[in-house]
Amino acid sequence: MESRPLHVLIAGGGLSGLAVAQGLVRHGHTVEVFERDRDLNRKQGYYLHMNAFGGEALRSVLPADLFALYQATSRVTYDRQESIVLHDHFGELSSQPHLGPPNRGEVPHTGVHRRTLRQILSARLGDALRVGAAVTGYTEDADGVTVTLADGSTSRGDVLVGADGIRSAVRAQRLPEVPVIPTGVRGIGVYGRVPLTPELREIVPTALMDGVVIAVDRAGSRMLVGVFDPRQPVHEAPREIAPDVTLDPVGPYMMVSCSVAPGTEVPPSAEWTAETPALLRESMGRAVAGWHPAAAEIVRRMDLESIFMIPFGYLIPAETWAPSRVTLVGDAAHAMLPTIGMGANLALRDAEHLVGQLARAGRGEAGLVAAIGAYEQDMREVAYPFHAMTLDHDKNFGGGALAKASDAG
Ligand SMILES: Cc1cc2nc3c(=O)[nH]c(=O)nc-3n(C[C@H](O)[C@H](O)[C@H](O)COP(=O)(O)OP(=O)(O)OC[C@H]3O[C@@H](n4cnc5c(N)ncnc54)[C@H](O)[C@@H]3O)c2cc1C
Repeated sequence: MESRPLHVLIAGGGLSGLAVAQGLVRHGHTVEVFERDRDLNRKQGYYLHMNAFGGEALRSVLPADLFALYQATSRVTYDRQESIVLHDHFGELSSQPHLGPPNRGEVPHTGVHRRTLRQILSARLGDALRVGAAVTGYTEDADGVTVTLADGSTSRGDVLVGADGIRSAVRAQRLPEVPVIPTGVRGIGVYGRVPLTPELREIVPTALMDGVVIAVDRAGSRMLVGVFDPRQPVHEAPREIAPDVTLDPVGPYMMVSCSVAPGTEVPPSAEWTAETPALLRESMGRAVAGWHPAAAEIVRRMDLESIFMIPFGYLIPAETWAPSRVTLVGDAAHAMLPTIGMGANLALRDAEHLVGQLARAGRGEAGLVAAIGAYEQDMREVAYPFHAMTLDHDKNFGGGALAKASDAG
């Protein structure tokens, strides 16, 4: 088998697609990343809990200075490496060790601001990252893959990676039988941020500051909080570490996702008016009215501009399939409910392992399709059990997968 650089087409410039791109470039291959959005900063969530799956994948795919930037802009370490559940007066009900490999090492992986991580992952890709470029389909033959974009243009490469998220166009063609199950917005799903001021730190019990914490009451209301308190000020970190990179400023904050009061309709994002965030915030306040006073204070301080909703959903992953030059990573392969904080970690792990296999093929150590098959087998073995766990966990804390899909919002 000959050794040669590959040209890899990547549908989707989210976390997994960008990580694949960084890793392949690091190994001397070329890439084209097609991202549907023109604006890479669309609201998709704020704080991402990271474990060693995601963190070590980043160490593997990023150049050393960009990895150092990730570490510097991640949150300071917390005391307990556990998922903690509190009652409505913020006493502890239960805890369990975080799923996935623990956060060890000199600078343990903790959590990042999603937009910052995406900016780091986009760094230095230049023209290889094409925004406003939606993939609509592909054709595959014995020598390569040709991808088609919404504007009718095409591009040809050795491999196509579907990193285009839960409603992947690549998966729709590659594995058309995979269903997507929408679960709507119920327990949690409306998100926002509260600036982490010294005053807020005084008011909020320390139990709420340790990683991602869920508080619950007997009526079924839920509040999830995650504190982002970076090791270094985000926009200043590149100066010493990677001066060619620009990161948007982001101050310390508490990410909050809170139930709305029973009877409150959460309209789809497209139907929000200027009043919607304030109405939802007020409804959240009613949902936590009898709670520890800090709960109402947190909701009251939620920045209206930051409030948005994410309708949760998941897919039922395909059991197995014969490999080809077209493969899938991250949510495109195994989108899961977000309540155990594993989706991004597994998406990054997929990227690391796919890069490793494609690099083997590029060096002539394995056939291209066989290498992709080895990646896919490992991905199914590692990611699928976590996917199954999210459904179980969601019965207690999540966005409502327990409710029948037929009555999902
Ligand atoms: C509220 C919330 C909180 C979460 N918290 C955590 C957490 O703490 N820890 C964790 O590990 N995970 C978390 N997750 C899960 C995590 O966000 C996802 O698993 C992760 O973003 C998946 O990355 P991805 O690159 O596979 O897909 P995405 O991030 O969805 O990226 C897909 C990209 O493809 C683009 N795209 C879509 N269609 C096309 C097309 N046809 N052509 C071109 N581009 C296209 C999209 O615009 C997008 O940029 C959370 C998810 C949510 C919703």
